[in-house]
Amino acid sequence: MAYPNTQLLIDGQWQDAADGRTLAVSNPATGSEIGRVAHAGIADLDRALAAAQKGFLQWRDVPAAERSKTMRRAAALMRERAVDIAALLTQEQGKPLAEAKIEAMASADIIEWAAEEGLRVYGRVVPSRNLNVRQLVLKDPVGPVAAFTPWNFPINQAVRKIAVALATGCSIIVKAPEETPAAPAALAQAFLDAGLPAGVLGLVFGNPAEISSYLIAHPIIRKITFTGSTPVGKQLAALAGQHMKRVTMELGGHAPVIVAEDADVELAVKAAGGAKFRNAGQVCISPTRFLVHESLRHEFAAALAKHAQSLKVGDGSTDGTQMGPLANSRRLTAMAEFASDAVQRGASIVTGGERIGSVGNFFAPTVLTDVPLDAKVFNEEPFGPMAAIRPFNTLDEAIAEANRLPYGLAGYAFTGSLKNAHLLAQRLEVGMLWINQPAAPWPEMPFGGIKDSGYGSEGGPEALEAYLNTRSISILNA
Ligand code: NAD
Repeated sequence: MAYPNTQLLIDGQWQDAADGRTLAVSNPATGSEIGRVAHAGIADLDRALAAAQKGFLQWRDVPAAERSKTMRRAAALMRERAVDIAALLTQEQGKPLAEAKIEAMASADIIEWAAEEGLRVYGRVVPSRNLNVRQLVLKDPVGPVAAFTPWNFPINQAVRKIAVALATGCSIIVKAPEETPAAPAALAQAFLDAGLPAGVLGLVFGNPAEISSYLIAHPIIRKITFTGSTPVGKQLAALAGQHMKRVTMELGGHAPVIVAEDADVELAVKAAGGAKFRNAGQVCISPTRFLVHESLRHEFAAALAKHAQSLKVGDGSTDGTQMGPLANSRRLTAMAEFASDAVQRGASIVTGGERIGSVGNFFAPTVLTDVPLDAKVFNEEPFGPMAAIRPFNTLDEAIAEANRLPYGLAGYAFTGSLKNAHLLAQRLEVGMLWINQPAAPWPEMPFGGIKDSGYGSEGGPEALEAYLNTRSISILNA
């Protein structure tokens, strides 16, 4: 499928920026420009804001059951179009076609789940202390939302926000990633084709800092939601605080993987190794610090390296590719730095550690072992295909290391003992913990972090709560 240029979506119309500005979009597997994306200016944002306000006033008064039907139609369209959308996603982001298709299909599940859950936004009747008084608790949509979404899962990160905003009766303007604009545009098109009224969903691209500072401060916007790095999240949350806006922050992580003495090593390698190299490691919940019991360290490192070496790395559009390029050249430079820093501090490279070829952003699936605690990769999010292994002797030691960093997004553990599983569930400071399995971020389960990984949730009923105002009403029979 030919790769399109992407326009702005304002008031239900696809359009160029008022001043005609555009940015280049390139294919990370080849480095070549494949298209252009419109770059919004303030005049465009003003029109998007006015449309979002108009869209909100209309959409909040559409009964939840009708909203749900529109959303279900959008979900069906995403399923129908998944193959074509996956082809766009792979061209702009790099991930293998099979992963891209899963992302497009999963968006339909997320939309449907939110469409269902939106039917159950109940208030309540609270018994009064005065029999002549009726006390009601109402749940209302918070208002127009500004969402900022990243390039690693261009559809998934946007749909988690759009689906709950629409299910609760909010309108939403999404500042989607400039590097990967066509897949989120295809998602927006599915909603338009499903009959979503103009203005309820807007899509803009441009200078991220300029757009976020304008939208967050604007009185029309009532809620901010951001997925991205912790430093940017802190800036946006601070700005939102100045303007007293509701906030959901889904930020960086540095997931520990504890492989206990009684773990099934084969399962651990398959589950955590699979999760590590998915999307070339550019995943906020990607396993990073592999804390392996001393007795298993050699066996585990060898098995993980064998898994890494078996992966077919290449252009995501080529049949059989299991790991694509990094999404942009920033990540390539960062990965080389992480590897050389670790080696300088005493770590060993079991496999990988360098760029592959000179065309495209390919980096070899990398396994490092005996990584010292002060290595950069053990402290900063690598956001790439790099597993760092370190041995431990007691589970308490592993738990202390897992909790050492300010991040608290995802964690993984492998153990044959229920006692260990309960202990880890109690003590690990993470928002999401998967024991003896790969990540399973289903829409019905809360998705979000604690500590520096952010606050709020993008799954489960909590996701909808974040888009609702709670109001108390008390009526005295006059
Ligand atoms: P970055 O911190 O510059 O940007 C991360 C995302 O935030 C991008 O989508 C970017 O467009 C957006 N952004 C940046 N400044 C912004 C601003 N002032 N206002 C609004 N949006 C803004 O880093 P990057 O090089 O694009 O990505 C690398 C880092 O970002 C990774 O190390 C990782 O920590 C983080 N990241 C996290 C996720 C996630 O799923 N949590 C996704 C992508 C990137």
